[in-house]
Amino acid sequence: MLNVTIIPILDDNYAYIIKSGNQIAVLDPGEAAPIIEKLEELNLTPDIIFTTHHHGDHVNGCNTLIEKYGCDYFDRSTEKFGDDPVQIIATPGHTKDHVCFYFPDSKIAFTADTIFSMGCGRMLEGTAEEFFDSIQKIKALPDDTLLYCGHEYTQANGAFCLSVDADNAALQSRMDEVKQQRASNKPTIPTTLQMEKETNIFMKAKTVEEFAKYRRLKDSF
Ligand SMILES: [Zn+2]
Repeated sequence: MLNVTIIPILDDNYAYIIKSGNQIAVLDPGEAAPIIEKLEELNLTPDIIFTTHHHGDHVNGCNTLIEKYGCDYFDRSTEKFGDDPVQIIATPGHTKDHVCFYFPDSKIAFTADTIFSMGCGRMLEGTAEEFFDSIQKIKALPDDTLLYCGHEYTQANGAFCLSVDADNAALQSRMDEVKQQRASNKPTIPTTLQMEKETNIFMKAKTVEEFAKYRRLKDSF
């Protein structure tokens, strides 16, 4: 089973230390210092780096970690990390190169800037068709999959969802929970796929057109 440690980095990013069997990895190290600090606290040496896409706030710490630990990028042809099989899900939309890493035995997916809790990434490189299709791939995972995303944007995302889906009782109660978590400076992640299907307007969108409309509205929210 995968063991996940959440590391808040930069202003609002999340990087992760993940363990399976005797392997240690870092996922999306947008800066090195807080990750090194956590690795030392846990007495861990990373073997592998996973990156979901090319943006600096997800990769800028890679070189420092590679120099310090001699770790290497995940070999995408191996399909295994420690004891866990890994599925690489291509999810273009936020960027062309974006992938999500899904660990089916542990029912954990790292969705980075494709799916946030109650939101999705900005559509910077891809098309609405691509982004919508990417979201359908995530929706096809088991409902109890834990989703770990790339940013703590949950409260602002939820406010947008409420603006277009005000009568959604699941969304209202999730927002109450999120407010409490943020008031005590706790991460609002992981979320579950089931929760996102109920509250995330970008997951609820049934057509490309509907998705594109919400993405446009969110850009100017
Ligand atoms: Zn990004």
